[in-house]
Amino acid sequence: TPALQVSALRKVYANGFEALKAIDLRVEQGDFFALLGPNGAGKSTTLGIVSGLVQKTSGSAEIMGFDVNNDLFEARRRLGVVPQEFNFNQFEKVEDIVITQAGYFGLRSREATSRTKELLQALDLWDKRDQPARMLSGGMKRRLMIARALVHRPDVLILDEPTAGVDIELRRSMWRFMQQLNGEGVTIVLTTHYLEEAEQLCRNIAIINHGQIVQSTSTRELLSTL
Ligand code: ADP
Ligand code: ADP
Repeated sequence: TPALQVSALRKVYANGFEALKAIDLRVEQGDFFALLGPNGAGKSTTLGIVSGLVQKTSGSAEIMGFDVNNDLFEARRRLGVVPQEFNFNQFEKVEDIVITQAGYFGLRSREATSRTKELLQALDLWDKRDQPARMLSGGMKRRLMIARALVHRPDVLILDEPTAGVDIELRRSMWRFMQQLNGEGVTIVLTTHYLEEAEQLCRNIAIINHGQIVQSTSTRELLSTL
């Protein structure tokens, strides 16, 4: 079973704009995969459909064999999503934001608490656990988004432009964190418009432009053609 499979996926927004023109993608389990393309190419739209936040027009998307349209709950259980915008409650405490998310996925309270501690420690947020999220710096908020996305131990982690607007030091520490996760077997799919990020981190790259996949290949292969 592929970790992610997208087939003939098409999106026409309400204003008539065709953001995705029947794209195909396949990401194997354990892969570290980049969807690379310029602003406006259709990256967020693709991830939005895959994570059940955006309605597709036609085609299909599956996570670990579960169709996001027909089996969203099963698909979501296997998926962690880190959107670009901070979409947590800014007034809620850091620890509670992660624990609440664990509740959505049915973790027992004891497991939710210990898993939250483990993640907040790994992401260097444990000292901030009692603060409302609005008190965190931008980089800390981004790490909080990652902690929340991982609390239910998803097989696949999807990150939309995870290092956009992030300083070089935090970018490097996020890269290391993602590499470590991937080493533990988590499939990682990220979008980026930096070729450098894709080539540093990812094993396979699909290039999207104007709502179409123009190339999908291994990073090594891609670099040899540039
Ligand atoms: P759909 O229902 O097809 O998924 P929406 O109606 O939810 O699309 O779109 C949300 C709103 O964002 C709409 O009012 C849409 O017109 C507006 N919008 C229009 N153009 C853009 C754009 N380029 N980027 C983001 N939002 C846009
Ligand atoms: P990317 O993530 O690669 O920057 P997006 O998926 O956000 O690209 O957007 C793809 C295209 O769809 C862009 O031209 C964008 O303006 C348009 N778009 C995004 N959301 C909407 C919307 N809600 N309504 C209309 N057009 C949209």
